[in-house]
Amino acid sequence: MKIICVGLNYRKHIKELNWTEPVEPVIFLKPDSSILKNNKPFFIPDFSQEIHYEAEVVLRISKLGKGIAKKFAYRYYDALTIGIDFTARDLQKKFADSGLPWELSKTFDGAAPLGKFLQAENYPDKSNISFRLEINGILRQEGNTSDMIFSFDNIIEYVSKFYTLKTGDLIFTGTPPGVEAVKKGDNLVAWLGDEKVIDFFVR
Ligand code: MG
Repeated sequence: MKIICVGLNYRKHIKELNWTEPVEPVIFLKPDSSILKNNKPFFIPDFSQEIHYEAEVVLRISKLGKGIAKKFAYRYYDALTIGIDFTARDLQKKFADSGLPWELSKTFDGAAPLGKFLQAENYPDKSNISFRLEINGILRQEGNTSDMIFSFDNIIEYVSKFYTLKTGDLIFTGTPPGVEAVKKGDNLVAWLGDEKVIDFFVR
């Protein structure tokens, strides 16, 4: 399976990082070895001094598809959750500044904690889903899919031009503002709508 991620999909997040707004979705992949499930702890790797959390709505692909038209995209995923797109921001900056791919900064082991999946049909309006991340009981990120530059359906149409989507593939759909570094002992808890879907510690 593959994990497809969209970068820079919320304007206020683009602003906080001083990037420019993309005209097409910015896409990268994470390997399956980056997945952390069942609220397992995340261990800060020794190659970074600045691991940022990015809470994102994640789609689970439920059907094989390629070249999917936007109007049919909703048929290709069946479940949603929150995932954390952990990013070694110091490495990302270093690579980006030298004009090189910043892949390593987002693809290391444990860089994709995943919450429990909820049925997509429980969220009839996909362009109005709220979500939030609390760390140690303090609200750190709050988002709504209405603020996405590229909607779920836009993303599926776009990425399926390049990749065959397979059952079980995941799509991280971008993060709202509020990203910061984690530290040992932090407790990350995120909600999709009113449902708590992930609750884990940083070690
Ligand atoms: Mg992200």
